[in-house]
Amino acid sequence: MLRGLVATRISTRRMHVKAIKMRWLTGGVNYSYLLSTNDKKKSWLIDPAETLEVMEDLTTDEIKTIEAIVNTHHHYDHAGGNVTTLAALKEKGCNVSHVIAGSQRSPIANEIPDNLHETSLGKLKILCIRTPCHTQDSICYYVQDTETGEQAIFTGDTLFTGGCGRFFEGTAEEMDKALNVNLLEYTGGRTNWDKIKVYPGHEYTAGNVHFIRNNVYLNKSDNKSFNELESFANANEVTTGHFTLADELSYNPFMRLDDKIVRKRVGDSQLSWTRAQVMDKLRELKNRA
Ligand SMILES: [Zn+2]
Repeated sequence: MLRGLVATRISTRRMHVKAIKMRWLTGGVNYSYLLSTNDKKKSWLIDPAETLEVMEDLTTDEIKTIEAIVNTHHHYDHAGGNVTTLAALKEKGCNVSHVIAGSQRSPIANEIPDNLHETSLGKLKILCIRTPCHTQDSICYYVQDTETGEQAIFTGDTLFTGGCGRFFEGTAEEMDKALNVNLLEYTGGRTNWDKIKVYPGHEYTAGNVHFIRNNVYLNKSDNKSFNELESFANANEVTTGHFTLADELSYNPFMRLDDKIVRKRVGDSQLSWTRAQVMDKLRELKNRA
């Protein structure tokens, strides 16, 4: 449904994150991300699946700072470029050797972090939060800049703006836990979620907004936060990094399983279903949309 988007290569830099468009011409609408320290001396290259598109978008100076290739999960459109990107980076004089991923299903992964493993990149503190469901090896990387206070989370195909990934290797219960327990429990609590910018693995916002307006929040009076997301998505092709975890909690139905409107729309008229049942039905409706 996003095939009509113009595949111009525009890099956007917010916080210390450069979003790199990949596979936009073929409808994949993926993002790779260059995450850098405030002084731009060290960086991580996240999900560089399409080596040519990624290399074209990196400057010589940026390439030299890359310390690791990092995957959010093993799918080819995220991890499929590990071997060729590592070689291309080395050819350009980069010393990178770390390949961080959730399992050996990511090619040449040599660092497999446990759940809640904490690591650092210069002054950036990074927590690896495992969120099994879309794949069993899915990891969300929660980043805090101890220098500037800025925060971000790279959610791969687990959390999208206004949506979530398909349950390829997991259950509705696991996705509920991933989104509504794991992601929330280790990210500083309610007073902090509005400071954490969300960077998903795909630009799926337009499609998600369309789904929500037609299946969940049908009326303008149903959810004011959703109206704002909808206006933004209608006016902007790139939405990654614009919204926070608190924003997602305010309009993303997959994070609002107890919302009466969400429950009624999936068919739970008595408000008696389990959260997993609501999650399952939402996903089923989205898959059919
Ligand atoms: Zn995936």
